[in-house]
Amino acid sequence: MSKHDPYGAPAKPDSNCRTCTDFKYWSKQQRQIFHKADTPKEAKPESRAAVPEGCPLDKVALGRATWGLLHTMAAFYEDNPTDNQKKDMKTFIDVLSRVYPCEYCSKDFRKDLKEHPAQVNSQYEFSQWLCKFHNRVNVKLGKSQFDCSKVNERWRDGWLDGSCD
Ligand code: FAD
Repeated sequence: MSKHDPYGAPAKPDSNCRTCTDFKYWSKQQRQIFHKADTPKEAKPESRAAVPEGCPLDKVALGRATWGLLHTMAAFYEDNPTDNQKKDMKTFIDVLSRVYPCEYCSKDFRKDLKEHPAQVNSQYEFSQWLCKFHNRVNVKLGKSQFDCSKVNERWRDGWLDGSCD
């Protein structure tokens, strides 16, 4: 469960992982580990506390940034990709699912990919596949689902009401 630090620092649990949790919860964990007097209170696993500017990402900030990259890649993917472009995108998604630095997110990602392999035959197909994948994560986290008919408004063209112009 816990490892002993040969340099005398307090033992840390194996699950201590900043990118597997959110900043507020993580910093509370650290206080509990290093200052035992700190009274533990109920942690909020999906706290929206922002990571301070210039600090390492937590699970929430990492997730937002990664979704931003993925949806933007899908937004600007080719309508008629070549075989190489399809192969590259499949490889990218496959590798990401193995190296994503949140262990249990990455495990679920790989499981989801087996059930729903990436669809990369066109911009429409890939952005819809990604939107549905993101929605499955949203459902798992108890969040509302995004309307996938609006994915290009959100990530490529800007909202029809002109609020992004
Ligand atoms: P996010 O979910 O990060 O979404 C960012 C923005 O994308 C939203 O503001 C919205 O405008 C837009 N959006 C939302 N849904 C969709 C959609 N379906 N299609 C298009 N656009 C959309 N966290 C965990 O706690 N457990 C996990 O197992 C986990 N797995 C993850 C797996 C992956 C591959 C990634 C990239 C992230 C994962 N996360 C996980 C992080 C989690 O999904 C969120 O990124 C994080 O909780 C922050 O959520 P958020 O509410 O800021 O919005």
